[in-house]
Amino acid sequence: MSTLRILREFAAVRWFRPLRSRRAVARRQRRLLRRHVRFLRRRSPYFRELLADAEFDRLPLMDKRIMMAQFDRMNTVGANKEQALELAIANERSRDFDADLGANSVGLSSGTSGHRGLFVVSPAERDAWVGTVLARTLPRGDLLGHRIALFLRADNSLYESVGSRAVSFRYFDVYADMSENVARLQEYRPTILVAPPSVLRVIAKAAETGDFDVVPKKVYAVAEVLELADADRIRAALGQPLLHQLYQCTEGFLAHTCERGVIHLNEDSVLFEREALDAERFVPIVTDLRRRAQPIVRYRLGDVLRAKSEPCACGSALAAIDRIEGREGDTLLFRGSDGRPVPVFADVVARALLFADGFDEYRVVQTAASRLEIALDVVDDRSRRSVGAEVAGLADRLGCERPEVVFVPYTHDASVKLRRVVRDWGEGRP
Ligand SMILES: [Zn+2]
Repeated sequence: MSTLRILREFAAVRWFRPLRSRRAVARRQRRLLRRHVRFLRRRSPYFRELLADAEFDRLPLMDKRIMMAQFDRMNTVGANKEQALELAIANERSRDFDADLGANSVGLSSGTSGHRGLFVVSPAERDAWVGTVLARTLPRGDLLGHRIALFLRADNSLYESVGSRAVSFRYFDVYADMSENVARLQEYRPTILVAPPSVLRVIAKAAETGDFDVVPKKVYAVAEVLELADADRIRAALGQPLLHQLYQCTEGFLAHTCERGVIHLNEDSVLFEREALDAERFVPIVTDLRRRAQPIVRYRLGDVLRAKSEPCACGSALAAIDRIEGREGDTLLFRGSDGRPVPVFADVVARALLFADGFDEYRVVQTAASRLEIALDVVDDRSRRSVGAEVAGLADRLGCERPEVVFVPYTHDASVKLRRVVRDWGEGRP
């Protein structure tokens, strides 16, 4: 870990690299892309071969399957997949993320797609990551003395502790007992709290019952889709004017919220191509212009993002996003009046259920062509009637057949990412 490298990145992101116009963003991306393509030609056998026949914008799209299949030829640090995988699994088993692959860190990602992903990060990339995250999260005009609490599912030494007087990190394992986690958190008194929404909900409940009384300066949701209803409740319980988000996944640190709470894509280091789903929604195809150990090039993420139509009032030229809605494969398919499938975005389902009541936790799973299995933590006449009416209303509004709804009890599983709307049937699933 090099403090100097972290500080350099921090300063660059925070002060010296303001991108005030779309032209400035495009210019920076073009310059980084040229350099990155040169590097790939030189150092990645996989990309050297592809780039011999095609320009960058004609390269085939990449996903986790291809990344894993071509791992050895794609990475630029000579990592071997079997070796790296063995090490990453041993780290994950022991939940002690010390073992590294040479100078590089390895980690596993389960993601939401079931495929196991493997990632390799160099020390320079790790430092740049820490610097960027700090630059994007520390409050304006208030840089020193922060205590940052991080709740992470898949840890690895990418997130290795940075401890200094200026800023301290503490890691909380989401697999550990949550009441112990909350007690440790209370004692740590974080000024910045970063956790998945499902964990933030637990902390919010602790705040409501008086078991947690710290009011952090900023609270960040990461790693899971943040539902509007969850956001409101967490915000209120933790005394926050707004809830921030970091869009961080194995494929990179992709977006952050500005001081107004609007999500901005990290276009200063990541190139986003957009595959349009409708007028506002798109699936991002990302190229990390600076990640070299394991290149992420034209990687199709499969997340549904909704663009904001007007620029953000904060003055940043980085593209503004209204919502990160969820996985493309979790877009439900209702049956239209003509028998054809009608896509119903996960966010649309979640919004419809905002109006239902009588329960706290829910999960909607499409299990067949016109069948939904809905798990509720309170299954009684009231919740059933209320949810049933909202689902029927949604189907009517969309001109679709009303799906059959089966209610089941809600079970909590901390080991998997919380997805409230899931399609477990049909084509196009991840
Ligand atoms: Zn903004």
